Amino acid sequence: FEHSDVATLTRPDFEIIIKTKIGEEVPKPLVYLDSAATSHTPKQVIEDIADYYETMNSNVHRGAHTLSRMATTAFEEGRDTVASFVNAYSRNEIIFTSGATEAINLVASSFGRSTLKEGDEVVLTEMEHHSNIVPWQMIAQETGAVLKFVKIDFEKGGLDLEHMKTLLTEKTKLVGFQHVSNVMGCINPVQDMVTMIRQKSPNAKILLDACQSVPHMKVDVQELGVDFLAASGHKMCGPTGIGFLWGREDLLNSMPPYMGGGEMIDQVTLEGSTYAQAPARFEAGTPPIAQAVGLASAIRYLEKIGMDKVEAYEHEIASYMYKRMSQVKKVTVLGPPEGVERAALCAFYVDGVHPSDLGTFLDIEGVAVRAGHHCCQPLHQAKGISHSARASLYIYNTKEEVDYFVDQLEKTIQFFTGLETQIDGASGGD
Ligand code: PMP
Repeated sequence: FEHSDVATLTRPDFEIIIKTKIGEEVPKPLVYLDSAATSHTPKQVIEDIADYYETMNSNVHRGAHTLSRMATTAFEEGRDTVASFVNAYSRNEIIFTSGATEAINLVASSFGRSTLKEGDEVVLTEMEHHSNIVPWQMIAQETGAVLKFVKIDFEKGGLDLEHMKTLLTEKTKLVGFQHVSNVMGCINPVQDMVTMIRQKSPNAKILLDACQSVPHMKVDVQELGVDFLAASGHKMCGPTGIGFLWGREDLLNSMPPYMGGGEMIDQVTLEGSTYAQAPARFEAGTPPIAQAVGLASAIRYLEKIGMDKVEAYEHEIASYMYKRMSQVKKVTVLGPPEGVERAALCAFYVDGVHPSDLGTFLDIEGVAVRAGHHCCQPLHQAKGISHSARASLYIYNTKEEVDYFVDQLEKTIQFFTGLETQIDGASGGD
């Protein structure tokens, strides 16, 4: 099939999308444009999770009984699936976490706390999600490390890489940045950035927040050349409660565990303990087993479509949405201008209309967009706005939905601007 058929082929698998109606009096079909926050889960994944609970549910590892062996196999096969999806060097490099947030906190707590000394530098960007800022602020406070932030070039709609160059020094111990911005929609040139970092900061490790790229394009850790990568399952057709950290095996084994408990040990005596190697080293306690089975199923689902087709389709509808939105009066779309490749999302603001009013009015028409700071307050501060609205697309969204959304957006803006004129007129008359 052609990439342009992706939505036609996938939509029937997402019952929530085809069945949900929004509103009670005049129900409207759901137009779900919030997949950058959480994507939907196809029936194949829901069935695989149900099958896990119905046929093999039990605790993993150690168990001598049949169900435990089956659960262990399914869980560990999930790790193999994730490892091959991102082209890890080894399955031991995949640590299951509750999501990207936990994956980043793991790196900050373990690598950060054990490595950073007073005066060491951590370079992040103004574009980062709070999950890649706050853990570093916490560790910097504890260790005396200094945080520096790469500026955003809003004209270009991406990071200011010249500024980045000036921040990188021999004192830089970690550089953390997003692959794709959840607000700007820009795709950062990871390989160029890695080359720059390796040249200027040979002592730095590189952490890539790949939350918004792994679900939408082929991501190959070997090609990218980073040291750590974090992603979340619920943004890639998988369940909530699971994500993963990929890290280089020798690096992971050189880091101290960050949670203690069952599974992560080698030997425990009352005097002390020795620790297992990765991945068990970082998976204390009962892991998210059903969720790992679900995540693996989601990856199989995406791979069956083909990540090249996912990417090509999203590219097509992303450019279409951008083009339509940039023609709407009073709307400013954040991120790269037309002609520069962007992810399938548009964060935007409208002169004179608060993003949450937009969100509420669009919801009445069945359109689900997000309004707020999208966990990127520093990005909004740098732009001089407090909030934005965001429409984000995935494999199941169609051009017709984009048209409906933009029409409703125009209608909403007209309503608010009309109101404004009326109020202005009224007050002028008085
Ligand atoms: N980074 C980015 C770029 C994100 O978009 C998100 C989710 N909005 C996160 C990190 C955090 O992911 P989670 O909440 O699933 O841990």
